[in-house]
Amino acid sequence: MALPFLVGGYAFYSGTSTRGIIWMITFLLAVVACVFLHEVGHAYAARRYGVSVFDILLLPIGGIARLKSLPSKPAEEVWVALAGPMVNLLIALAFLPALWYWPRHEWFPILNNYDLGSALVCLSLFNAAVFVFNLIPAFPLDGGRILRASLSRKMSRLKSTRITTWISRLIGLGLLTYGFFEGSFFLMGFSLFIFIIASREMGSAVVSSFLSDTIISSLAKDARSFDPETPIHEIVEHLHRSKNGGAIIVDECCPIGFVNLRMLEPLKGQVTHVGSLEMPTVICHDSNTPLREISQQFSVFPKSIAIEENEGRPVGYLDLDLLDQGFQAFAKTV
Ligand SMILES: [Zn+2]
Repeated sequence: MALPFLVGGYAFYSGTSTRGIIWMITFLLAVVACVFLHEVGHAYAARRYGVSVFDILLLPIGGIARLKSLPSKPAEEVWVALAGPMVNLLIALAFLPALWYWPRHEWFPILNNYDLGSALVCLSLFNAAVFVFNLIPAFPLDGGRILRASLSRKMSRLKSTRITTWISRLIGLGLLTYGFFEGSFFLMGFSLFIFIIASREMGSAVVSSFLSDTIISSLAKDARSFDPETPIHEIVEHLHRSKNGGAIIVDECCPIGFVNLRMLEPLKGQVTHVGSLEMPTVICHDSNTPLREISQQFSVFPKSIAIEENEGRPVGYLDLDLLDQGFQAFAKTV
């Protein structure tokens, strides 16, 4: 928001007339308002599909409507992404009649023609440019999101993100080459921005696909259950004999803790029963629970253990290390 006043200050020191300074500040405030309305368009469409909106941020490179989640259906995502540019198209069309004044005066501000007609023409052209620019099918522009959501109707989200990421990189490469030969630092900087955001989108699509498509049973390690009264040396012997990384401590069919060799070895001889140990928090999940639900447990309690239950009986465990190993293996396959 400080930009219009900075430009106004610069105009004052460069000898622009008072009328010109007021024109510039008003015009730039109107530009900021149009960027804001673009984001309001996204936010309004998102709320219509039941998606909450955190807030709207105005940044030097544009605005962002921060959504709590994405709409569940690809068609809804298309409409949410399209709503922003549509607002700019409507504004551009609303101010279009001002173009009738064009032949009667020079509208470009450098020519010191600071009147309402020139402001409306400039706003109309600005909004038309924002509309077209945002429909370029590259991340992070709305066009990139529209392309990805449209492809998601026919293929997985991961595949549609990968295709959109590559198209984004091609467009970024084209802009970088054009910007280099034209000497435009803006275009070169923007192409780098496209590369960075496209890679980030791909990364988050891989994480999202891993968390949604994998269930706890495919990553959990088998673990036997023991009573809290079991002597520690007995569990240590079992863990040495078996390939299990740990053991689940169950009190009357209810898992109350988890132990592994790393925790037990130093305590051998000091504590007799495993039940008297301080153990990490355990939370039970059914074998078919997707990792997306379990990841919430680790984001709140990173040191906790997820217990895999099959028909109500604890059969395995999953910790943050196993989750990470599973993700590394998954990431290599995509
Ligand atoms: Zn947008």
